[in-house]
Order: sequence, then C-alpha cells, then structure tokens
Amino acid sequence: MADKKKLIDPDDDLSSDDDDDIKILDTATSPESTEEPSTSHCQPIGETGNSQHKEGVPSLLTMDAELESEAPPTYESIGYDAGTISANGIANRNENSEPIFHVRSRTAASLAGVPQQEQTQYESLDYDVCENKLFQDEQLSRLRDRFSLRTHIIRWIIFILIGIITAVIACTIDIVIEELSELKYNFLKSSVDDNVTVNESGGDLALPYLWWLLLSAVPVAIGAGMVTYIEPITAGSGIPQVKSYLNGVKIPRIVRVKTLAVKSIGVITSVVGGLAGGKEGPMIHAGAVVAAGISQGKSTTFVKDFHVFKAFRDDHEKRDFVLGGAAAGVSAAFGAPIGGMLFSLEEAASFWNQNLIWRTLIASIISSFTLNIVLSAYHGVSGLTFTGLFNLGKFDHPLTFEYFELPLFMLLGVMGGLMGAAWNFLNTQINKFRSRFVPWRAGKVCEAVLVAILGVTLACAMIYYINDCRPLGNDPTIHPVQLFCEDNEYNAVAALWFQTPEATVRALFHDPPGSHKILTLAVFTIVYYLLSCSTFGLNVSLGVFIPTALVGAAWGRLVAMLLFYMFPETQFLHPGKYALIGAAANLGGVLRMTISLSVILMETTGVETSFFFPLIIALISAKWVGDYFNDGIYDTVIEVNHVPMLPWEPLPQYKGLTAQAILSKPVVCIKLRDRAHYIYEVLHKCNHNGFPVVDDVEGDRRSEGRVCGIILRSQLIVILLRSLYVENQRFWQQETTIQTFRDVYPRYPSIQSVKPLDRKFNYTVDLSMFMNPSPVRVNTYDSVPRIFNIFRALGLRHLLVINNENRIEGIITRRDFIYK
Ligand code: ATP
Repeated sequence: MADKKKLIDPDDDLSSDDDDDIKILDTATSPESTEEPSTSHCQPIGETGNSQHKEGVPSLLTMDAELESEAPPTYESIGYDAGTISANGIANRNENSEPIFHVRSRTAASLAGVPQQEQTQYESLDYDVCENKLFQDEQLSRLRDRFSLRTHIIRWIIFILIGIITAVIACTIDIVIEELSELKYNFLKSSVDDNVTVNESGGDLALPYLWWLLLSAVPVAIGAGMVTYIEPITAGSGIPQVKSYLNGVKIPRIVRVKTLAVKSIGVITSVVGGLAGGKEGPMIHAGAVVAAGISQGKSTTFVKDFHVFKAFRDDHEKRDFVLGGAAAGVSAAFGAPIGGMLFSLEEAASFWNQNLIWRTLIASIISSFTLNIVLSAYHGVSGLTFTGLFNLGKFDHPLTFEYFELPLFMLLGVMGGLMGAAWNFLNTQINKFRSRFVPWRAGKVCEAVLVAILGVTLACAMIYYINDCRPLGNDPTIHPVQLFCEDNEYNAVAALWFQTPEATVRALFHDPPGSHKILTLAVFTIVYYLLSCSTFGLNVSLGVFIPTALVGAAWGRLVAMLLFYMFPETQFLHPGKYALIGAAANLGGVLRMTISLSVILMETTGVETSFFFPLIIALISAKWVGDYFNDGIYDTVIEVNHVPMLPWEPLPQYKGLTAQAILSKPVVCIKLRDRAHYIYEVLHKCNHNGFPVVDDVEGDRRSEGRVCGIILRSQLIVILLRSLYVENQRFWQQETTIQTFRDVYPRYPSIQSVKPLDRKFNYTVDLSMFMNPSPVRVNTYDSVPRIFNIFRALGLRHLLVINNENRIEGIITRRDFIYK
C-alpha cells in the first residue's frame, strides 16, 4: 500500500546542493516493503558482528592501514567498534539496550513501523546556535562597535519588509482571482441568459454547461500541470510543510522563489477553475517563502547575493522570520492581524518566545495595513476604509445570542467535530487510493481536471433539477441568473455556484432569511462536502479553509432553517448567525484550531467581542469531539508523509526509560586535532550530519574519547574546501570568520565537491575554533521524558550521551525519538 506523498513528490528531480541532497523516495514505494534500504548512513559496512567489506568498495580499513602503518586492522581506525554498525548506519544494540516500546502520538503514531528507507528522507535543521570561537569573536566585536543594536534594528526592518511584500503578493493574487472570476461568471451568466429561454420547459443548458466545463478544465489543467511538472512541493495548502519546517524538519525546496511563483499561479488557476478550495493556505506559504528569501539577502534560485543581512544566515534566525512570514500570510489572506499572530502561535510554531510575539504581530499588522492601502487604492476608496478587508463580509447588525442558545451552539460544535473527523478520514483514504492508483504525472493532471469536470457537472445537475427561484433584489449575489425562473426572479441554486467559494461563504453569512430552500442547502452541503474531500490532495495549489467554512456555513444555515420550520414563532434564529457558528464548528472539526480560528472569524466578519463566547464554544466542542477520532487535517498530512515532527509533550511511552534505551552507539567521533584525510574519509563513508569532537583518545579508539564539542558535517566540508589546516594556518587565520561558514548557507557543498586530498592527507585539522564547544550532553541514566524536553525545547539536532567521566556513550537525534 502506498501512502500519499504530498510534501515531497516522487517525480522530483534533485540537484546535489545541500538543500536538496536528501534522498527523496519514490512515494509509490510501499511502506510495508521489505526491500533493503538503498541509502545507508555509514560505509564500509559489514554484517553485524563481522568486519568484511563489500567487494569492490575500497575499504576504509585498507586506506587507514596505508595511512598509518600502526593503525590496527579494525574499524577503530574511523572510530567504530568493530562490526557493530549495521548497514543503515544505526548502531546495533545488544538485547538489553533494545528499545522496548514504540512511540505513539498524534504525529508520531504511525512512524514506529516506517521502513528505514523512508526514515532517511528528511533531515533536521539546526536551531541550536553553534556558539564556537568564531561566533564568540563576532559577538565581542559587535559589542565593541555597537553592532548589536544595528542587528536588532535590521531585524525589525526585515519583519516590516516581510509584512509589506507578503501583502503585495496576496493583493495581487486576490485581485487577479477576483477579476478573472468576474469575467468567467459574467460570461457564463450571459451564456445562460442567451441559451435558456424563460418559461421554455427545460431550457437548453447544454452550451453553457460546455462553456463552464471549458472555463474550469483549462485553468485547472494549467495549474495542475505547473504544480506537477515544475514544482511538486507546491501542491496542497503548504501549511503542513511550513509547520514541519518550523518544527525543525528540512523540507527541500519549500522556501524557494520558484516555489512561490508556481504556488501563486497555481492558486490563481485553481480558484478561477472553480475547484473546491481556497487561496488562504497558499498565501500563508507565500508569506513563509517571502520571509525566508528577504531575511537571507540572497537568492539561490537566481544565484544572486545582495551582501546584506548576512548576520541572519542560519537556521535559527531564518526560522523566526519564516514564522513572521506565516503570520503575515494569514493576516494578508484574511485581513486579520491578530488572527495571523495567533495562528502562528497556535498552529505553526514549535518554538516561541516573547520577542517573537512582538515581531510576528508587527509583520501581521504591517501586512494587513498594506493590504488595506493597496485594496483601497485599487477599488478607488479614499481614507483606507475598504470594507473588502472583512473578506467574509461585515455583519451589518450586532450578532446577539440568548443564553439558552449556548447548548445549541455546543451541539453544532459536536456535529462539526463529527463531520470534520469523517472528512479527515475520507480525505486520507482518497489520497491513499490516489497515490496507489494514480502514480504518473500525466494521470495527476488528468485527475485534477476530472474533479473540476465533476464539480461543474454536479453543479449543473443541481441547478437543473432543483427549482429554487427567489425574487430579485433579495440576494446580494453579484451574478443573479434567471435561468428557469420567472421575470424578476433569480435562481438561488445558480447563485451558490456562479461565484468563487469565498463569495459563497459571504453570501451564506449575509443573505437575508428566506434566500434558499431547505433542499438546496441540504444537497449543496452534501455535494460540496464530497467535492472538497476529493479536491484536497489533488496536485494543485489549494487550501482547505474556505471549502471547510463553506460546508459549515451551508449546514449551519440549514440547521437554522430547519429549526425555524419546526418552531416558526422563534425570534433568535438568524440564519447568518448559525451559518457563522456552523462554519466555525466545521473548521474546528477539520483543522482543530480554536483561539486563532475564532479570532480570524471575528476579524473577517467584524462581529463584536461578545460573540467570541459562542464561537469558542462551537470550536472547542468540535475540536474535542474530532480529537477523539483522529488528528486535524494538517497533522494527518504530516503523519501520512512520515515527517518526523516532534510532538509538544513527551509521550507516555517514554515513562520509566533512560537514555540507554534509545541512544545510538558506537558513535562516529572526530579527534580535536585529527588528520584531514580521516575527516575526508568519514564524510565520504558516513551520512551523519554531526560528529562529537573528542580528546584524550587512546590510539584510534575515538568512540571512547572524552567529549569536548560537536562539529557539523557542513562545517567539516567548509574546512576541507578552504584547506583550513594547521600546517597553513598563517595563510587563513586572519580572514576566517564565522561569515566564512555563513556564506555557503543554506546550500552547503557536498563532500563530492572536495577534491581528493592527495598530498595533504597527512595534514592536521584543529577543530577547537570551529566546533561547538558546549554541546548539550545528558547522562546515560537520564530519563527519556527529560531528555525529550531538553531536545524539543532547545531545538537540538544532536544530543550527546556521556558517562560520569564525560566519555561518549551514545548519540540521540530526532530519528531516535520518532522511529524507535
Ligand atoms: P538529521 O538527519 O536529523 O539531520 P543526522 O543525519 O546527523 O541528523 P540521523 O540521520 O538522524 O542523524 O541519524 C540516524 C541514526 O544515526 C540515528 O539513530 C542517530 O542516533 C545515529 N547517529 C547520528 N549521528 C551519529 C554519529 N556521529 N555516530 C553514530 N551514530 C550516529
């Protein structure tokens, strides 16, 4: 059975740069496959317990023996204990140290059984700043020339820039969608008016239907084609990818300019094509890309370095900016600055501090302010009062509620939770089916077009078979279509379909009572529920927020109508109010967010703070009920893709375990002063990204050395590339700074780009100024919940396990928490 891979597409071609050098697996590969993994962490590798080399592979042992005749003929020459590393590079444990549990959690539950080849597809980011000697020198020099203050100011400027540029991109997407949709639906309306004669029984809907098909299929085919063939990472909303990135998982190509371009065009074509999706998720992704791009002051896509913002070129700084970008994206998508900040806090971020609250808020506010200016100017409104900022439409009258309605809101929440959980389950099943039976790229494009055709066909069938005529002027719809209705009437079913999904949500919130038949809303709810379920997961750029709100608004309004039908004397049943509660409940059931959703809904509809209470009641009930059955849709996508997200809390399964149960050993270490050739060979033979630095080593028994730091693979490659050897120290010592390492961030060269050392193989590398001298260490007897908390809170990539004498005992990475 193949799982849907939406985060990373199977058909991706990869370049060899660091951002991309993760082996992306064919997603059609069965997770249950028993094939041997194609990638390994260390070579040469013998079977457990023996030290034979694979034929044809020059053995490290031989090379070391050539290098140092005194080197013993064992794997010790590269720091291994003989025969104790398996083919995948993970240290084999004896029976006693075998982990005795499987991690189960909301995001890690299914990962315990993930095959090894899938475990290697994601690498981690380094959120723990490497405070080495070079870094400390920079800090000192900043103190001296007050550079520190400048850095803070520049950081604020970057957040402001992120807000402005994200808003401009969001406005552009928004305006293009509005204009193209206007053209499309105006044309369809006139086509209907021309071809369907009033009072003629049945009318001829065939030609408008064909036009509608064409105007939907063509944009969807363009969008799906771009996503599939140019940048598959742009499929979907982008929020799960951004969330994973912020948790510390490296998702290749997620924050590239090319990704932004394809995503923007992709979302425009999909929404204009009429697919059941919204632009909000992609806008959040767009904000994240903008943030990552601006904050680094260079573009890897255009190979252009602007030589600015160099101090921010590391994962830690970039992460904070990306968070600000996501907040600005929400703010621009909904016109909801506080909602944007809260969204980042509740849904996106895995790390948080007080400064970040301020920075993300500023990015959000600037974003919504810019949106206001641009949209006001575009619509010719003076005084920055463009009401379109309430993009779900401002309620004219204050929404009030009676206290006896509160249990009703709670029931709606329960219903939203049930419907949301069912939606998430169905969607996951459909996506699994898809990835199994539609693995080819052309098939994916055809599938998107087919779903678009299905949508149009169902809409036409609804319009044709349901007779729902309403007097003109009753409905504020932009495109009233007369269709089979009398003069001075419009077709209420066509009104639901002849506009963008966002406009339909607006209509359901604000249409006056009596705008629809019960049958119309009931059928619309079912059709849109199924359509949105089959759309999320297609190879198109689309978010899930608007279709989910639309389904909720439809059934919320339907509930109000049913209640009114049963109790006609009731006064409180304002259909718009129930549509809003229904939307909140459905969103809570699918997304499982609470605070940010309620604030976003309040900001986008302009309801009073007194209505916060009903909204939060519906949202919390929906979340609790939904959580009983499964995860929110974003977490589900993350889980299905086997992304190693670290959950917020240590899992109950950790209880009573010590580091011994999950660590890997023996550890591949490097001596404080080691031979360049040894380092070169380790990097060639091992895929690990971090190596403890040790001294007090007996002979070559590095894996028993005393820990004095940790060094990253990327740093070692830069050292070799720049020949930073002890023997030629006088040539490089002056000009080598922390910037030397930042300049190649984030796409560090691979070890293949380092020429064989030839005559330099006996040169020495002194790691004391390059390594992180204060790596986080724990003792073998420390409890797993405690070390999980340390690992999670500090955003670590490697955690060293030592004994009482500070000698290395093992190493723990994200994979050890997630997959064991
Ligand atoms: P990441 O992939 O998270 O960026 P990494 O590549 O350094 O970091 P992993 O791929 O997570 O490490 O490691 C795979 C396995 O190898 C894990 O079980 C880990 O504990 C182990 N491991 C990591 N580094 C070393 C090392 N230097 N020596 C021995 N085992 C290691």
